[in-house]
Amino acid sequence: MKKVFLLGAIVVALTMPQPARGSGVGSRGPENPSAPGIITPTPDSRPPTPARRFDVHVTPEMIRHSRIDETLYFTDSVYGIAILLLILATGWSARMRDFAQRWVRWPFVAAMLYFVLLSMVITALTFPLDFYGGFIVPHQFDLTDQSFAGWLGDFGKGLGVNVVIFTPLAAIALVIIRRIRRWWIVLWIGTIPLILLGVLATPLVIDPLFNDFRPLRDASLRQALLDEASSAGIEQSRVFEVDKSKQTKEMNAYVTGIGPSARIVLWDTILAKLDRDEILSVMGHEMGHYVLKHLWQGIAFSVVITFIGFFIAQRLFEWGLARWGVRWRMGDRADPAALPWLLAVSSLLAFLLSPVYSGYSRHIEHQADVFGLELTHKNEAMASSFVKFAEDSKEDPRPPRFIEWWYYSHPSLGRRIDFVLAYKPWEKGEPNQLWHP
Ligand SMILES: [Zn+2]
Repeated sequence: MKKVFLLGAIVVALTMPQPARGSGVGSRGPENPSAPGIITPTPDSRPPTPARRFDVHVTPEMIRHSRIDETLYFTDSVYGIAILLLILATGWSARMRDFAQRWVRWPFVAAMLYFVLLSMVITALTFPLDFYGGFIVPHQFDLTDQSFAGWLGDFGKGLGVNVVIFTPLAAIALVIIRRIRRWWIVLWIGTIPLILLGVLATPLVIDPLFNDFRPLRDASLRQALLDEASSAGIEQSRVFEVDKSKQTKEMNAYVTGIGPSARIVLWDTILAKLDRDEILSVMGHEMGHYVLKHLWQGIAFSVVITFIGFFIAQRLFEWGLARWGVRWRMGDRADPAALPWLLAVSSLLAFLLSPVYSGYSRHIEHQADVFGLELTHKNEAMASSFVKFAEDSKEDPRPPRFIEWWYYSHPSLGRRIDFVLAYKPWEKGEPNQLWHP
């Protein structure tokens, strides 16, 4: 659903910190004999952990789950756009505008009311897919224990947050579209402070609406992470744990925020399922994001990409209005009823640009893997974490290359496992690429 929300949402979505989990994985068929893991396990003598495995046990269930997820991704994208076109073509959009303007005199408020109505209609129409992908599938594959009431509560909160944030923004955008000839440049510039504000405020204001965040409790692990952070070059780091187990059994960790909100967050599920070395290796990856300033790079990348996006969107938007505006009962380009068209065009562009920003994201994620290995030398621990990620979230470690290319934010777990087992420049006396003590 977030795909469908306003231009700015696309930008914000682009810059949102991506969870550090290997999205996607898997061999092409069940039980691929050439799966990673030919490497001999080297017993790690520190904590008494069960023997580590470096090959993903690929099950038919895992493959099925991945194919469903992939299908859902493409279905959601196309369906979201189709719904917007439907809202226009049936005249619902014009009718909602008429309704809003009949009840409210002031155009700015009428535009806000229109946007709220539009959000409700979109939500109702996408609900079946949201419910299937967000609730049914995770239960089918035993990836969550969340009750329906809990899930619906989160869903409602998410909707509320979106409506509260984007309703005034939509009305402001319409004022800009009405008053300024090169409105798209102004909107584009306007997204920059919004992105920064979003990255700053999300961990402080939005995330706590859904979960409890607290400083990492395990004192000895906390000390180990602080030591690791300081050798990574991070001083005064904040490490939080979050009670994510109430929503999912999958595990994750991520870096987020800027300035006063910057932090590293570990899901409680990862604390429960990974051993200490695995956690330190995964956190080496996260610290790589931090030290290499990936969040800032990501913001800069989004700003450039959205410039291109806004330019094309504006062209398509005005072209479509000229062509179908009368049939859709639209006034000028600043007519609130034209918003679904702007959203449709933006969603289409965001969808088509997915390979661009996914490719960029995979590059960043790979760098973080390199950094983490150079920092920790915990190749085996990182590999076995990735094995657990794949098995735990039931993700095909070697998905079809097209799928990975189109929208994976991380290299597939299979390829990451191959890489982390092989990357040891220090054994050959070669210099590090990214971590310099
Ligand atoms: Zn990452």
